[in-house]
Amino acid sequence: MFGKRLAIVLSLAMVTAGQACAQSKKLKPGMNFYSVEQDVQLGREAAAQYEKQLPIVRNSDLQSYVERIGRRLAQSPAAGQFPYSWRVVNDRSINAFALPGGPMFIHTGLILSADNEAQVAGVLAHEMAHVALRHGTNQLSKAQLMQGIGGAAGVFLGSQGGLVGQLGQMGVGLGLQSVMLKYSRDAERNADLLGTQLMNDAGYNPVEMARFFEKLEAESGKRSGVTEFFSSHPNPGNRVAAVEKEIRTLPRRSGYQNGDPGELNRAKSIAQGLPPAPKRSAAAMQDGSAPQSPEQVRPSRNLRPWQGSLFAIHYPENWEVFASQEGEDVTFAPRGAIFQAPAGTPQIGYGAVLGHEQTRNDDLEGNTRALIDNLVKSNSGMRVSGGQRQITVQNAPALLTTLQSRSPYGQTEIDILVTVQTRAGLVYAVFIAPQNDYRNAEPVFQEMLRTLRVR
Ligand SMILES: [Zn+2]
Repeated sequence: MFGKRLAIVLSLAMVTAGQACAQSKKLKPGMNFYSVEQDVQLGREAAAQYEKQLPIVRNSDLQSYVERIGRRLAQSPAAGQFPYSWRVVNDRSINAFALPGGPMFIHTGLILSADNEAQVAGVLAHEMAHVALRHGTNQLSKAQLMQGIGGAAGVFLGSQGGLVGQLGQMGVGLGLQSVMLKYSRDAERNADLLGTQLMNDAGYNPVEMARFFEKLEAESGKRSGVTEFFSSHPNPGNRVAAVEKEIRTLPRRSGYQNGDPGELNRAKSIAQGLPPAPKRSAAAMQDGSAPQSPEQVRPSRNLRPWQGSLFAIHYPENWEVFASQEGEDVTFAPRGAIFQAPAGTPQIGYGAVLGHEQTRNDDLEGNTRALIDNLVKSNSGMRVSGGQRQITVQNAPALLTTLQSRSPYGQTEIDILVTVQTRAGLVYAVFIAPQNDYRNAEPVFQEMLRTLRVR
Protein backbone atom coordinates (compact mmCIF):
# COMPACT_ATOMS: atom_id res chain seq x y z
CA MET A 1 0.00 0.00 0.00
CA PHE A 2 3.03 2.23 0.00
CA GLY A 3 1.99 4.07 3.11
CA LYS A 4 5.39 5.33 4.15
CA ARG A 5 6.46 6.65 0.83
CA LEU A 6 3.17 8.18 -0.16
CA ALA A 7 3.19 10.31 2.88
CA ILE A 8 6.24 12.03 1.55
CA VAL A 9 4.41 13.02 -1.57
CA LEU A 10 0.99 13.59 -0.10
CA SER A 11 1.70 15.61 2.95
CA LEU A 12 2.20 18.96 1.42
CA ALA A 13 3.85 20.43 4.42
CA MET A 14 7.23 18.80 4.48
CA VAL A 15 9.03 22.09 4.57
CA THR A 16 12.09 22.07 6.70
CA ALA A 17 11.51 25.51 8.05
CA GLY A 18 14.23 27.42 9.74
CA GLN A 19 12.40 27.27 13.02
CA ALA A 20 14.16 28.97 15.84
CA CYS A 21 15.92 26.25 17.75
CA ALA A 22 15.12 27.84 21.02
CA GLN A 23 16.55 27.05 24.39
CA SER A 24 14.39 26.30 27.35
CA LYS A 25 11.48 28.67 28.04
CA LYS A 26 12.06 30.47 24.77
CA LEU A 27 10.09 28.04 22.66
CA LYS A 28 7.66 30.03 20.59
CA PRO A 29 5.09 29.06 17.98
CA GLY A 30 6.32 29.49 14.41
CA MET A 31 4.82 31.32 11.45
CA ASN A 32 1.05 31.03 11.45
CA PHE A 33 -1.83 32.43 9.38
CA TYR A 34 -4.34 31.38 11.99
CA SER A 35 -5.37 32.99 15.22
CA VAL A 36 -5.36 31.02 18.45
CA GLU A 37 -9.18 31.08 18.28
CA GLN A 38 -9.00 29.50 14.85
CA ASP A 39 -6.76 26.76 16.21
CA VAL A 40 -9.48 26.02 18.74
CA GLN A 41 -12.23 26.13 16.13
CA LEU A 42 -10.35 23.95 13.67
CA GLY A 43 -9.47 21.40 16.34
CA ARG A 44 -13.03 21.30 17.63
CA GLU A 45 -14.45 20.61 14.18
CA ALA A 46 -11.87 17.97 13.37
CA ALA A 47 -12.38 16.37 16.79
CA ALA A 48 -16.12 16.09 16.15
CA GLN A 49 -15.33 14.14 12.98
CA TYR A 50 -12.87 11.88 14.76
CA GLU A 51 -15.29 11.22 17.59
CA LYS A 52 -17.85 9.99 15.09
CA GLN A 53 -15.41 7.82 13.24
CA LEU A 54 -13.10 6.39 15.87
CA PRO A 55 -14.00 3.74 18.43
CA ILE A 56 -13.95 6.03 21.48
CA VAL A 57 -13.80 4.19 24.80
CA ARG A 58 -16.80 5.00 27.01
CA ASN A 59 -15.33 3.76 30.25
CA SER A 60 -15.38 6.40 32.95
CA ASP A 61 -12.50 4.87 34.95
CA LEU A 62 -10.16 4.77 31.98
CA GLN A 63 -11.36 8.18 30.84
CA SER A 64 -10.74 9.77 34.22
CA TYR A 65 -7.34 8.09 34.55
CA VAL A 66 -6.11 9.75 31.36
CA GLU A 67 -7.87 13.00 32.13
CA ARG A 68 -6.29 13.22 35.57
CA ILE A 69 -2.81 12.91 34.07
CA GLY A 70 -3.68 15.44 31.38
CA ARG A 71 -5.01 17.99 33.85
CA ARG A 72 -1.91 17.65 36.00
CA LEU A 73 0.17 18.61 32.97
CA ALA A 74 -2.18 21.35 31.77
CA GLN A 75 -1.63 23.28 35.01
CA SER A 76 1.85 24.20 33.89
CA PRO A 77 2.09 27.79 32.62
CA ALA A 78 3.92 26.35 29.61
CA ALA A 79 0.67 24.64 28.51
CA GLY A 80 -0.94 27.96 27.66
CA GLN A 81 -4.65 28.67 27.78
CA PHE A 82 -5.98 25.95 25.48
CA PRO A 83 -9.18 24.01 26.19
CA TYR A 84 -7.45 20.63 26.43
CA SER A 85 -9.50 17.47 26.25
CA TRP A 86 -8.65 13.76 26.15
CA ARG A 87 -10.27 10.77 24.51
CA VAL A 88 -9.19 7.16 24.66
CA VAL A 89 -9.44 5.24 21.39
CA ASN A 90 -10.00 1.48 21.44
CA ASP A 91 -7.11 0.64 19.17
CA ARG A 92 -4.20 -1.65 20.02
CA SER A 93 -1.77 0.15 17.74
CA ILE A 94 0.57 2.50 19.56
CA ASN A 95 -0.45 6.01 18.74
CA ALA A 96 -1.66 9.31 20.11
CA PHE A 97 -2.38 12.57 18.40
CA ALA A 98 -3.41 16.10 19.25
CA LEU A 99 -5.48 18.45 17.16
CA PRO A 100 -4.91 22.21 17.07
CA GLY A 101 -6.39 23.95 20.07
CA GLY A 102 -6.31 21.01 22.45
CA PRO A 103 -8.27 17.82 21.65
CA MET A 104 -6.07 14.75 22.20
CA PHE A 105 -6.66 11.12 21.32
CA ILE A 106 -4.77 8.27 22.98
CA HIS A 107 -4.87 4.70 21.73
CA THR A 108 -5.30 1.90 24.27
CA GLY A 109 -2.21 0.30 22.71
CA LEU A 110 -0.16 3.15 24.07
CA ILE A 111 -1.44 2.78 27.62
CA LEU A 112 -0.80 -0.96 27.41
CA SER A 113 2.84 -0.37 26.41
CA ALA A 114 3.75 2.09 29.16
CA ASP A 115 5.97 0.93 32.02
CA ASN A 116 4.75 3.61 34.39
CA GLU A 117 2.35 6.54 34.60
CA ALA A 118 5.12 9.02 33.81
CA GLN A 119 5.46 7.40 30.38
CA VAL A 120 1.76 7.88 29.66
CA ALA A 121 2.19 11.44 30.90
CA GLY A 122 5.23 11.79 28.63
CA VAL A 123 3.19 11.12 25.52
CA LEU A 124 0.46 13.48 26.70
CA ALA A 125 3.05 16.15 27.48
CA HIS A 126 4.65 15.75 24.08
CA GLU A 127 1.25 16.04 22.36
CA MET A 128 0.31 18.99 24.55
CA ALA A 129 3.51 20.70 23.48
CA HIS A 130 2.46 20.34 19.84
CA VAL A 131 -0.77 22.13 20.73
CA ALA A 132 0.88 24.87 22.79
CA LEU A 133 3.49 25.48 20.09
CA ARG A 134 0.68 25.44 17.50
CA HIS A 135 2.54 23.03 15.25
CA GLY A 136 -0.62 21.87 13.46
CA THR A 137 -1.64 25.21 12.01
CA ASN A 138 1.99 26.15 11.57
CA GLN A 139 2.39 23.15 9.25
CA LEU A 140 -0.86 24.06 7.54
CA SER A 141 0.26 27.66 7.07
CA LYS A 142 3.54 26.56 5.58
CA ALA A 143 1.70 24.23 3.20
CA GLN A 144 -0.62 27.04 2.18
CA LEU A 145 2.25 29.41 1.69
CA MET A 146 3.82 26.95 -0.70
CA GLN A 147 0.55 26.72 -2.58
CA GLY A 148 0.20 30.46 -2.73
CA ILE A 149 -3.10 30.55 -0.86
CA GLY A 150 -1.76 31.86 2.39
CA GLY A 151 -3.63 35.09 2.84
CA ALA A 152 -6.96 33.41 2.27
CA ALA A 153 -6.89 32.02 5.78
CA GLY A 154 -7.88 35.43 7.03
CA VAL A 155 -11.35 35.13 5.53
CA PHE A 156 -12.26 32.16 7.65
CA LEU A 157 -13.53 33.88 10.72
CA GLY A 158 -17.12 34.93 10.47
CA SER A 159 -17.82 33.15 7.22
CA GLN A 160 -20.32 30.36 6.84
CA GLY A 161 -19.44 26.70 7.14
CA GLY A 162 -16.72 25.00 9.09
CA LEU A 163 -13.05 25.60 8.72
CA VAL A 164 -12.41 22.01 7.81
CA GLY A 165 -14.94 22.21 4.99
CA GLN A 166 -13.54 25.47 3.72
CA LEU A 167 -10.05 24.12 3.69
CA GLY A 168 -11.39 21.18 1.74
CA GLN A 169 -12.85 23.51 -0.86
CA MET A 170 -9.49 25.17 -1.20
CA GLY A 171 -7.88 21.88 -1.98
CA VAL A 172 -6.19 21.54 1.37
CA GLY A 173 -8.72 18.91 2.36
CA LEU A 174 -6.84 16.02 0.94
CA GLY A 175 -4.32 15.00 3.49
CA LEU A 176 -5.46 17.78 5.80
CA GLN A 177 -4.89 15.43 8.69
CA SER A 178 -1.49 14.44 7.49
CA VAL A 179 -0.53 18.07 6.98
CA MET A 180 -1.56 19.03 10.49
CA LEU A 181 -0.45 15.87 12.23
CA LYS A 182 2.76 15.05 10.51
CA TYR A 183 5.50 16.97 12.19
CA SER A 184 9.00 17.87 11.16
CA ARG A 185 11.98 16.72 13.19
CA ASP A 186 12.42 20.29 14.40
CA ALA A 187 8.86 20.29 15.66
CA GLU A 188 9.52 16.95 17.36
CA ARG A 189 12.62 18.25 19.06
CA ASN A 190 10.74 21.29 20.33
CA ALA A 191 7.78 19.19 21.47
CA ASP A 192 10.21 17.09 23.50
CA LEU A 193 11.72 20.21 25.03
CA LEU A 194 8.42 21.83 25.95
CA GLY A 195 7.14 18.41 27.01
CA THR A 196 10.10 18.25 29.38
CA GLN A 197 9.03 21.52 30.98
CA LEU A 198 5.42 20.33 31.26
CA MET A 199 6.52 17.06 32.88
CA ASN A 200 8.88 18.81 35.26
CA ASP A 201 6.21 21.32 36.32
CA ALA A 202 3.75 18.49 36.92
CA GLY A 203 6.29 16.53 38.95
CA TYR A 204 6.83 13.66 36.53
CA ASN A 205 10.37 12.67 35.62
CA PRO A 206 10.74 14.03 32.06
CA VAL A 207 13.31 11.38 31.19
CA GLU A 208 10.48 8.82 31.19
CA MET A 209 9.03 10.57 28.14
CA ALA A 210 12.22 10.17 26.15
CA ARG A 211 12.78 6.66 27.49
CA PHE A 212 9.34 5.59 26.38
CA PHE A 213 9.85 6.94 22.87
CA GLU A 214 13.21 5.22 22.63
CA LYS A 215 11.74 1.96 23.90
CA LEU A 216 9.00 2.13 21.26
CA GLU A 217 11.50 2.96 18.57
CA ALA A 218 13.60 -0.04 19.54
CA GLU A 219 10.54 -2.28 19.44
CA SER A 220 9.23 -1.06 16.11
CA GLY A 221 9.84 -3.66 13.50
CA LYS A 222 9.75 -6.39 16.13
CA ARG A 223 6.04 -6.20 16.73
CA SER A 224 3.19 -4.72 14.76
CA GLY A 225 1.40 -1.50 15.57
CA VAL A 226 4.44 0.30 16.94
CA THR A 227 5.43 2.32 13.91
CA GLU A 228 2.21 4.33 13.63
CA PHE A 229 3.32 6.94 16.13
CA PHE A 230 6.63 7.50 14.41
CA SER A 231 5.06 7.91 10.99
CA SER A 232 3.63 11.23 12.19
CA HIS A 233 6.21 11.97 14.90
CA PRO A 234 9.63 11.35 13.31
CA ASN A 235 12.38 10.59 15.81
CA PRO A 236 14.57 13.69 16.27
CA GLY A 237 17.36 11.49 17.67
CA ASN A 238 19.24 11.50 20.98
CA ARG A 239 16.04 12.02 22.90
CA VAL A 240 17.17 10.98 26.35
CA ALA A 241 20.31 13.12 26.16
CA ALA A 242 18.34 16.14 24.88
CA VAL A 243 15.78 15.82 27.66
CA GLU A 244 18.46 15.39 30.31
CA LYS A 245 20.20 18.52 29.05
CA GLU A 246 16.92 20.44 29.16
CA ILE A 247 16.19 19.27 32.70
CA ARG A 248 19.42 20.88 33.88
CA THR A 249 18.09 24.28 32.78
CA LEU A 250 14.83 23.88 34.72
CA PRO A 251 14.03 24.67 38.34
CA ARG A 252 15.31 21.71 40.32
CA ARG A 253 12.73 19.50 41.98
CA SER A 254 13.35 17.54 45.14
CA GLY A 255 11.74 14.43 43.72
CA TYR A 256 9.33 13.19 41.11
CA GLN A 257 6.00 11.49 41.63
CA ASN A 258 5.73 9.10 38.77
CA GLY A 259 2.29 7.82 39.74
CA ASP A 260 0.81 4.81 41.43
CA PRO A 261 1.68 1.57 39.59
CA GLY A 262 -1.60 0.09 40.81
CA GLU A 263 -3.61 2.70 38.95
CA LEU A 264 -1.75 2.11 35.71
CA ASN A 265 -2.31 -1.63 36.09
CA ARG A 266 -6.03 -1.01 36.62
CA ALA A 267 -6.15 1.17 33.49
CA LYS A 268 -4.30 -1.53 31.58
CA SER A 269 -6.69 -4.24 32.62
CA ILE A 270 -9.66 -2.12 31.54
CA ALA A 271 -7.98 -1.49 28.17
CA GLN A 272 -7.10 -5.17 27.90
CA GLY A 273 -10.67 -6.21 28.58
CA LEU A 274 -12.30 -4.08 25.91
CA PRO A 275 -13.84 -6.06 23.08
CA PRO A 276 -11.99 -5.47 19.80
CA ALA A 277 -13.39 -2.39 18.07
CA PRO A 278 -15.28 -2.90 14.83
CA LYS A 279 -12.91 -2.46 11.92
CA ARG A 280 -12.85 1.17 11.00
CA SER A 281 -13.26 2.18 7.43
CA ALA A 282 -9.90 3.11 6.04
CA ALA A 283 -11.57 5.88 4.10
CA ALA A 284 -13.47 7.27 7.03
CA MET A 285 -11.40 10.38 7.32
CA GLN A 286 -11.17 11.19 3.68
CA ASP A 287 -13.14 14.41 3.74
CA GLY A 288 -16.04 12.47 5.19
CA SER A 289 -16.90 11.14 1.76
CA ALA A 290 -17.31 7.49 0.92
CA PRO A 291 -14.48 5.85 -0.95
CA GLN A 292 -15.22 5.10 -4.55
CA SER A 293 -15.13 1.58 -5.89
CA PRO A 294 -12.29 0.48 -8.19
CA GLU A 295 -14.72 0.56 -11.12
CA GLN A 296 -15.48 4.21 -10.44
CA VAL A 297 -11.86 5.30 -10.34
CA ARG A 298 -10.41 3.02 -13.03
CA PRO A 299 -7.85 4.98 -15.13
CA SER A 300 -9.16 6.57 -18.29
CA ARG A 301 -7.34 5.72 -21.50
CA ASN A 302 -7.24 9.39 -22.33
CA LEU A 303 -3.93 10.64 -21.03
CA ARG A 304 -2.69 14.13 -20.48
CA PRO A 305 0.90 15.27 -20.09
CA TRP A 306 2.50 16.28 -16.80
CA GLN A 307 5.97 17.65 -16.31
CA GLY A 308 7.82 18.13 -13.05
CA SER A 309 11.42 18.94 -12.29
CA LEU A 310 12.49 15.29 -12.36
CA PHE A 311 9.78 13.43 -14.28
CA ALA A 312 7.62 13.91 -17.32
CA ILE A 313 4.80 11.46 -17.95
CA HIS A 314 1.29 11.20 -19.35
CA TYR A 315 -1.42 10.30 -16.83
CA PRO A 316 -5.11 9.38 -16.96
CA GLU A 317 -7.30 12.46 -17.29
CA ASN A 318 -9.69 11.27 -14.57
CA TRP A 319 -6.87 11.11 -12.00
CA GLU A 320 -5.37 13.97 -10.03
CA VAL A 321 -1.79 15.08 -9.54
CA PHE A 322 -0.21 15.40 -6.11
CA ALA A 323 3.32 16.67 -6.50
CA SER A 324 5.86 17.15 -3.75
CA GLN A 325 7.00 20.56 -2.69
CA GLU A 326 10.02 20.58 -4.98
CA GLY A 327 8.04 19.23 -7.93
CA GLU A 328 10.26 16.15 -8.02
CA ASP A 329 8.23 13.26 -6.69
CA VAL A 330 4.64 12.93 -7.78
CA THR A 331 1.58 10.78 -7.22
CA PHE A 332 -1.27 10.34 -9.67
CA ALA A 333 -4.45 9.03 -8.16
CA PRO A 334 -8.17 9.55 -8.12
CA ARG A 335 -9.30 11.23 -4.90
CA GLY A 336 -11.77 8.43 -4.27
CA ALA A 337 -8.95 5.90 -4.05
CA ILE A 338 -6.99 7.70 -1.37
CA PHE A 339 -7.55 6.21 2.02
CA GLN A 340 -6.74 8.48 4.91
CA ALA A 341 -6.48 6.85 8.29
CA PRO A 342 -6.48 9.26 11.22
CA ALA A 343 -2.98 10.41 12.00
CA GLY A 344 -1.64 7.69 9.79
CA THR A 345 -0.14 7.84 6.37
CA PRO A 346 -2.51 8.05 3.41
CA GLN A 347 -2.79 4.89 1.34
CA ILE A 348 -3.49 4.69 -2.35
CA GLY A 349 -5.79 1.96 -3.59
CA TYR A 350 -5.44 2.85 -7.24
CA GLY A 351 -2.80 5.13 -8.76
CA ALA A 352 0.83 5.64 -9.66
CA VAL A 353 3.66 6.93 -7.48
CA LEU A 354 6.89 8.31 -8.91
CA GLY A 355 9.83 9.03 -6.66
CA HIS A 356 13.57 8.83 -6.29
CA GLU A 357 16.16 7.91 -3.72
CA GLN A 358 19.76 8.90 -3.45
CA THR A 359 22.09 5.97 -3.84
CA ARG A 360 25.76 5.40 -3.11
CA ASN A 361 26.48 3.60 -6.35
CA ASP A 362 25.04 2.84 -9.79
CA ASP A 363 24.11 -0.75 -9.03
CA LEU A 364 20.54 -0.92 -10.34
CA GLU A 365 19.94 -4.44 -9.10
CA GLY A 366 21.38 -3.90 -5.65
CA ASN A 367 19.65 -0.57 -5.14
CA THR A 368 16.36 -2.03 -6.33
CA ARG A 369 16.77 -4.89 -3.88
CA ALA A 370 17.35 -2.41 -1.04
CA LEU A 371 14.27 -0.42 -2.05
CA ILE A 372 12.13 -3.55 -2.13
CA ASP A 373 13.44 -4.59 1.29
CA ASN A 374 12.40 -1.23 2.67
CA LEU A 375 8.98 -1.42 1.07
CA VAL A 376 8.37 -4.90 2.41
CA LYS A 377 9.48 -3.80 5.86
CA SER A 378 7.22 -0.75 5.98
CA ASN A 379 4.14 -2.28 4.35
CA SER A 380 2.89 -5.29 6.22
CA GLY A 381 1.65 -7.96 3.84
CA MET A 382 3.78 -6.83 0.93
CA ARG A 383 5.87 -9.37 -0.94
CA VAL A 384 7.46 -9.95 -4.32
CA SER A 385 4.95 -12.07 -6.18
CA GLY A 386 6.13 -12.26 -9.75
CA GLY A 387 9.52 -12.47 -11.31
CA GLN A 388 11.74 -9.56 -12.06
CA ARG A 389 12.46 -8.67 -15.66
CA GLN A 390 14.63 -6.24 -17.54
CA ILE A 391 12.94 -3.56 -19.58
CA THR A 392 14.00 -0.18 -20.86
CA VAL A 393 12.75 3.24 -19.92
CA GLN A 394 13.75 5.90 -22.37
CA ASN A 395 16.34 3.44 -23.73
CA ALA A 396 17.95 3.08 -20.32
CA PRO A 397 18.07 -0.33 -18.64
CA ALA A 398 15.31 -0.71 -16.07
CA LEU A 399 13.89 -3.42 -13.83
CA LEU A 400 10.24 -4.32 -13.53
CA THR A 401 9.25 -6.16 -10.36
CA THR A 402 5.75 -7.36 -9.55
CA LEU A 403 4.74 -7.10 -5.90
CA GLN A 404 1.59 -7.89 -4.02
CA SER A 405 0.19 -6.29 -0.94
CA ARG A 406 -3.06 -5.78 0.90
CA SER A 407 -5.28 -3.29 -0.90
CA PRO A 408 -7.23 -0.79 1.17
CA TYR A 409 -10.15 -2.12 -0.89
CA GLY A 410 -9.91 -5.29 1.16
CA GLN A 411 -8.49 -7.50 -1.56
CA THR A 412 -5.07 -8.25 -2.98
CA GLU A 413 -3.28 -5.37 -4.62
CA ILE A 414 -0.86 -5.53 -7.52
CA ASP A 415 2.09 -3.16 -7.30
CA ILE A 416 4.25 -2.91 -10.37
CA LEU A 417 7.60 -1.43 -9.45
CA VAL A 418 9.83 -0.03 -12.17
CA THR A 419 13.31 1.16 -11.25
CA VAL A 420 15.91 3.04 -13.27
CA GLN A 421 19.35 4.20 -12.17
CA THR A 422 19.94 7.84 -13.09
CA ARG A 423 22.08 10.76 -12.03
CA ALA A 424 19.37 11.62 -9.51
CA GLY A 425 19.86 8.20 -7.91
CA LEU A 426 17.41 5.34 -8.07
CA VAL A 427 14.24 6.52 -9.74
CA TYR A 428 11.13 4.44 -9.23
CA ALA A 429 7.56 4.27 -10.45
CA VAL A 430 4.94 2.16 -8.73
CA PHE A 431 1.70 1.37 -10.50
CA ILE A 432 -0.98 0.35 -8.05
CA ALA A 433 -4.27 -1.41 -8.76
CA PRO A 434 -6.57 -3.80 -6.95
CA GLN A 435 -6.02 -7.29 -8.34
CA ASN A 436 -9.61 -7.72 -9.53
CA ASP A 437 -9.34 -4.62 -11.67
CA TYR A 438 -5.76 -5.01 -12.77
CA ARG A 439 -6.49 -6.14 -16.32
CA ASN A 440 -8.36 -2.87 -16.92
CA ALA A 441 -5.45 -0.85 -15.62
CA GLU A 442 -2.59 -2.67 -17.26
CA PRO A 443 -2.83 -1.14 -20.76
CA VAL A 444 -2.97 2.34 -19.23
CA PHE A 445 0.00 1.61 -16.98
CA GLN A 446 1.94 0.41 -20.01
CA GLU A 447 1.14 3.58 -21.86
CA MET A 448 2.17 5.69 -18.87
CA LEU A 449 5.46 3.82 -18.67
CA ARG A 450 6.02 4.35 -22.36
CA THR A 451 5.64 8.12 -21.92
CA LEU A 452 7.84 8.27 -18.79
CA ARG A 453 10.87 10.54 -19.07
CA VAL A 454 13.44 11.16 -16.36
CA ARG A 455 15.69 14.16 -16.40
ZN1 LIG B 1 5.42 14.74 18.05
